[in-house]
Amino acid sequence: MSSQPGVQAAAGVRLAAGRAAGWAELAEAARGCTACPELAATRTQVVVGSAPAGARLLMVGEAPGAQEDATGEPFVGRSGQLLDRLLAEAGLPREQVAVLNTLKCRPPGNRVPSRGETATCRGWTERQVELLDPALVVTLGLSATAWWLGRTTLSAVRGQVHQAAGRRVLPTYHPSAAIRFGPRGEPLRLLREDLATAVRLVS
Ligand code: SF4
Repeated sequence: MSSQPGVQAAAGVRLAAGRAAGWAELAEAARGCTACPELAATRTQVVVGSAPAGARLLMVGEAPGAQEDATGEPFVGRSGQLLDRLLAEAGLPREQVAVLNTLKCRPPGNRVPSRGETATCRGWTERQVELLDPALVVTLGLSATAWWLGRTTLSAVRGQVHQAAGRRVLPTYHPSAAIRFGPRGEPLRLLREDLATAVRLVS
């Protein structure tokens, strides 16, 4: 039997997500999700995301890493610390920003999520966005950007506000790219610039 989720699993997620009347209800339902057999068997926990009341800015990444899987919180590793610092520099504390990943469970060994897994988890994410109703979505990295805008390259869309699924979407680098290229690298400079733009747009 395949360990990849199928169409039925995606439909089940969509149905369960649609039933959630609020964030807490959705989080409770998502925490018990086993729609992706391999991820459900290997994760420590489902990383649902954080949704501070009244958040106008939503940041979206790809999938939890090891530290997120261990703590249950999104963006808590080195990437998360950089994100916190850049948001604070831009004048918006992370505590006022909603953060989630398009995939809620850590792929083993941090492998790239399969298309089937991303498609299956989509129902949770779409309902989360609906419930949050953010003024602006910032996508971190190509995978989260493609989730919103379809097949593209980051260089083609980064730093501009796009309309997608009725939302304003501003793509930028993933903090891990900024770390990889170092303090003098372009990704850090552009991530800083884009987060400042995002904060300005929601202020
Ligand atoms: S990745 Fe999403 S759809 Fe798959 S098991 Fe985790 S919560 Fe469910």
